[in-house]
Amino acid sequence: MITDEQFALFEAANFHESQVGQDFRERYDLVCPVCRNETEIAPSLAMRCGMNQGAASCPGCKTFLLIRIADTGDHAEAVPYQQYIEVRTQKAGASE
Ligand SMILES: [Zn+2]
Repeated sequence: MITDEQFALFEAANFHESQVGQDFRERYDLVCPVCRNETEIAPSLAMRCGMNQGAASCPGCKTFLLIRIADTGDHAEAVPYQQYIEVRTQKAGASE
């Protein structure tokens, strides 16, 4: 399950202030939150346009992941997209 803190980070889809204006790396290390498979991702088009959000399937377990560059700026982090949507749906339901 993803935590409220993780959800908030991915929902905001913004870069940490220390990252704004920084050049992107070619690749960022990413560990799959489901199978711990280590892979590398390239910054998404959205990231290059200033929105810290991307998506890709894990090459190990094929889980579709929502990806952001971590606030430390030296690696990427991800949550399973399905779980993110479930939390988002719950929160939307709770506020109605
Ligand atoms: Zn995986």
